[in-house]
Amino acid sequence: MEDRTAPDSAPADAELSWQETALCAQTGPELFFPEPGSSTREAKFLCGMCEGRVACLEYALRHDERFGVWGGLSEQERYALKRRRAGRR
Ligand code: SF4
Repeated sequence: MEDRTAPDSAPADAELSWQETALCAQTGPELFFPEPGSSTREAKFLCGMCEGRVACLEYALRHDERFGVWGGLSEQERYALKRRRAGRR
């Protein structure tokens, strides 16, 4: 699992400030990067309570994160959201 609490470059600090309150950093990676076919319900529940949810989701979309739950959405849900947004342009 990517360490969402330890940005590795200064210029990215502002973009990654949501990681300071990331609830996923307090759990194991298995919740947010489950085996295929496993439930994402608990991860999404935590995302729903996370202060940085919107920023996290936008980060994942911008960086084309392919795996895991980010900002409360699974890979498939992020892909669908990107397609919907692209369709509005
Ligand atoms: S929204 Fe979810 S994945 Fe993103 S930082 Fe919060 S708990 Fe982690």
